[in-house]
Amino acid sequence: MEHPENSKEYKGLTVNDGVEQPAIVNPYLKQQRRRRRELPVSEMVEGIVKGNVTVLSQAVTLVESVNPEHYAKAQEVIEKCLPYSGNSVRIGISGVPGAGKSTSIDEFGIHVLNTYGGKLAVLAIDPSSERTKGSILGDKTRMEKLAQHPKSFIRPSPSAGSLGGVARKTRETIILCEAAGFDKVFVETVGVGQSETACHSMVDFFLLIQLAGTGDELQGIKRGIMEISDGIVINKCDGNNVDKCHLAATSFRNALHFFPQPESGWTPKVLCYSGFYGLGIKEIWDMVYEYFDFVKANGYFRYRRNEQSKYWMYESINEQLRDHFYHNPKIQSMMNEAERMVLAGEKTSFAAAGELFEFYKKIYGVGVADRD
Ligand code: GDP
Repeated sequence: MEHPENSKEYKGLTVNDGVEQPAIVNPYLKQQRRRRRELPVSEMVEGIVKGNVTVLSQAVTLVESVNPEHYAKAQEVIEKCLPYSGNSVRIGISGVPGAGKSTSIDEFGIHVLNTYGGKLAVLAIDPSSERTKGSILGDKTRMEKLAQHPKSFIRPSPSAGSLGGVARKTRETIILCEAAGFDKVFVETVGVGQSETACHSMVDFFLLIQLAGTGDELQGIKRGIMEISDGIVINKCDGNNVDKCHLAATSFRNALHFFPQPESGWTPKVLCYSGFYGLGIKEIWDMVYEYFDFVKANGYFRYRRNEQSKYWMYESINEQLRDHFYHNPKIQSMMNEAERMVLAGEKTSFAAAGELFEFYKKIYGVGVADRD
């Protein structure tokens, strides 16, 4: 039908016939779609082992997925990648928000890649991301130089689930990254809760970033974190902050004297640096690599990894038991009533928990006979 605007009587603008539209505006769109196709396990593993970062990202997404079907597939991929993993150094980097973690990791990463070569993966554990709906840690925009480096892979924290769940996913991602040839892995975490303990359970060296003048060194706050640290580094040692940093370093060194000698036999060091100005970076990494030489020679490196593997086996059992219990619809339906009775003082917490667990065992026919 003729367009009314094209009639002779029409006084306004006319409409042209137009040109034929191409079949597809972006000729590469189809190709991109094809690339996003979910790969079968064997192709995924092959891609990872070849160091294909797109495939690696896809596998990590699978690991992070909460879909039970994805879980089974992810476990298969991880298991097949396991023989190619382990050949790396894993470094945990912790510090309170504002300590300068991202600024430092950017500098550290570039230094390590330039000095020691290889490939670097930066991962993160941020359990708070569950609440904030998206992790701020490990964000590419915070590590500008590293994000552009061809030998780096940056992945923010998995965002769903409990700390245990988030940490497990990060640990599994380490395996995938190592299989893809990343021989250096940084695991970033916020030093404010239990996440550093989780981080410590998957790394070979735990680096704590501190600031001068926060009083931590004097009040003995974060004693737990200091105890698990293999190195403490005081950031922002620049401008008129230099003297304060050196003073803080002395306080930290003194405080460390009161801690028991670490199992590794290594004496943790305290160093000052400036992530922003790139000062003292070399000294930090000389220390980290000195540590690796030390613990590889005395056998602690292997011992710690074995202990971690054991720990993760038990953690995984705990996580699965917990999930199985809490996701049981019958248990879920009884939970509110149990909670009410505890709050009303009709039952003790232990009795309520005991009854729920007895009921759970009955559902699965786990009885006295099984215990004998
Ligand atoms: P994060 O929250 O631990 O990741 O900390 P950021 O890396 O985002 O740094 C927090 C703030 O400290 C930013 O404004 C940085 O520019 C600043 N900062 C980081 N490193 C240094 C440093 O070495 N010296 C100084 N003066 N400022 C720094």
